[in-house]
Amino acid sequence: MTNEEIWQVALSEIELSISRANFITWFKGTKIISNVDGKIVISVPNGFTKEWLENKYNAYILKALRNLQSDIKTVSCLIETPKEKPLAHREQAMDAIVAPSKIGYKKSSASSDDVDMENNLNPKYTFENFVIGGNNELAHAACFSVSQNLGRIYNPLFIYGGVGLGKTHLIQSIGNEILKQNPSFKVKYITSERFTNNLINALQNQTIKAFKEYYQKIDILIIDDIQFISGKEKTQEEFFHIFNYLYQLDKQIVLSSDRSPKAIQILEERLRSRFEGGMTADVSKPDLETRVAILRKKSINEGLRIDEKALDFIAANIKDNIRELEGALNRIIVASQLTEQEITLEFVANQLSELISSGKKKGITCKQILKAVSSFYDVSFDELVLKNRKQELVRPRQVAMYLLRSELDFSYPGIGEKLGGRDHTTAMHAFEKISKLLEEDAKLLDEINSLKEQLYRIY
Ligand code: ADP
Ligand code: MG
Repeated sequence: MTNEEIWQVALSEIELSISRANFITWFKGTKIISNVDGKIVISVPNGFTKEWLENKYNAYILKALRNLQSDIKTVSCLIETPKEKPLAHREQAMDAIVAPSKIGYKKSSASSDDVDMENNLNPKYTFENFVIGGNNELAHAACFSVSQNLGRIYNPLFIYGGVGLGKTHLIQSIGNEILKQNPSFKVKYITSERFTNNLINALQNQTIKAFKEYYQKIDILIIDDIQFISGKEKTQEEFFHIFNYLYQLDKQIVLSSDRSPKAIQILEERLRSRFEGGMTADVSKPDLETRVAILRKKSINEGLRIDEKALDFIAANIKDNIRELEGALNRIIVASQLTEQEITLEFVANQLSELISSGKKKGITCKQILKAVSSFYDVSFDELVLKNRKQELVRPRQVAMYLLRSELDFSYPGIGEKLGGRDHTTAMHAFEKISKLLEEDAKLLDEINSLKEQLYRIY
């Protein structure tokens, strides 16, 4: 196979594992420029693309390439300003790949599309729909105050905490509340990933001026999951300018992240100190009472009457994540409608038994996890599960142990047994180690998230 052919096939595989918007943004205009001794160099049109391909998509690229050529060791990117002819040719090739489902894909000449002009708010995320508990009291109070005193009291406001604990809901509530009070205000909610995508497009299509002007007219800028700009110098630089501009005009800025500003690695110091200069508040896991209150509120919103004992049962069994709590309730509601049964304690217990008894929590199996980990880290299934002291197997094995525990609630002895009859203390150590590392290691977090995405096929 020629380099061009290898890349085309690899791209068609990568396309299946990431979202369409990301695929088009990051892989357009790329090609393999050298393939020597297992080292692949990819030409990319700019520094942004280099950062993203080398950080976020490296594992996907390696995996796709190794399927075609097993001896590939590393992939790196080189910035090349595209020359006229080959670019046209490449774009055609890329168009051929993206052709089958062009949903939402516009040719680059459609300039105003680079700036997404929507406020992006989901109207269901309001303060009224938000249940206050010990876990989110401070974050809620800070968000609410901000909505009443725009730009004046806490600026920026930085909300952080784990997945599914209400960050997006809270920060969007600010936007919805402001629009309720003052419909002419310019509210902008955007995830940092989308912000970066738009910024790249604006740079590529030379609409950066319009991009900046658009952001400079905003009254409140809400950026979700800001941790994704970690390590992306150019995004940080542009964001810093927009941030400063708005800040000087007393415009409100609200940010969310899965960890505190301190813990976001590779964040430019000047940005970090800006983030820390305002107010930071965290959200943590809800206690039982709050979980019950959330379920009660949701069932009332759905116009359903559900036995209190049934709600208690759900809340007692699903503890870590409010999104999962909602998911369980929805599942029960659907099942009750399908079977025309009332939602009683017994009904709920039956419905949830599969979900909460270890083993099949979300329909995935131990084997699927082990397979996903072995293919992700490119080690063989047998090597992963058998006793083997190779150093390069340590991390994949720890990740597998972590996932068996976090996703399937396996017991430590059970995990040890699945992975080559290891001792339960090894499994426990692995779980604790990975949990701890996840607080500070952005790359590992990306890896675990990619694995979960694969397992649950979020895309
Ligand atoms: P995060 O952004 O922290 O991952 P989300 O804001 O997306 O979490 O919350 C996940 C789901 O849980 C959303 O549907 C949200 O409405 C709901 N939720 C989270 N916290 C609360 C709460 N305190 N009251 C009501 N619903 C909540
Ligand atoms: Mg969120």
